[in-house]
Formats: sequence, structure tokens, C-alpha cells
Amino acid sequence: MTFYPVFSHSNFYEVAKTADNAERKAFQVEDQLRVLSARFEHLTLVTQTLWELLEQHTNLTQEQMYDKMQEIDLRDGEADGKIKKPVFLCNNCGHRVSATYQVCIYCGAPPDVPPQP
Ligand SMILES: [Zn+2]
Repeated sequence: MTFYPVFSHSNFYEVAKTADNAERKAFQVEDQLRVLSARFEHLTLVTQTLWELLEQHTNLTQEQMYDKMQEIDLRDGEADGKIKKPVFLCNNCGHRVSATYQVCIYCGAPPDVPPQP
């Protein structure tokens, strides 16, 4: 009968490999967060600039701009402070699929395929 230690050489190798992968993914996520933060700061600057230019050079009021924001927000059917890409409900498989795709990514049916029995 052979007894294996809890952390055999192969177990230790697998644990070390998993830790390395987790560390690499953490660094990747950190980089993505840094990029997204920079984009957010840039978009905040652009938005503030546009709002100030509109106020200074037009007769638009902040209330009108907020009303327009709400109108745009509601175009996707939800007042959630986001602009979502439109989706279609696949008549073939029932999945919701981004309208950016020409066909359902789950079953390959075109958006206007008639429902299957
Ligand atoms: Zn489908």
C-alpha cells in the first residue's frame, strides 16, 4: 500500500500553476480597470465640456438637457441610466440576442425566423 502526502509534487505543481494563473488574471483585470478608469475620466471631461458649451452658446436649459437624457435613456425601454444595444428575441430558441449579430448566436436562426413548434 502506498501513502501519498497531501501535497505531492504534482499537487504542489498544480497549486503553484493555479496561483500563477490567478495572479496573471488579477494583473490583466488591474490593467483593464486602469484603461476603463482613464476612459471614464476622459468621457467625464468631454461631457462636462459639452454641457458647459451648450449652456454658454445656446438657450438650452439644464432641465431640457436632463429631459433629453431621460428620453434617450428610455429608448431601450428601461430608465436605468444606460444605453443598451438593442436585442431580439429568437423565435427559434427563445434566447435574447444582441441585434449586432445577423443571426442568433445560440441556434443560428435569423432574427425574423418564424417560431418552431
Ligand atoms: Zn436562437
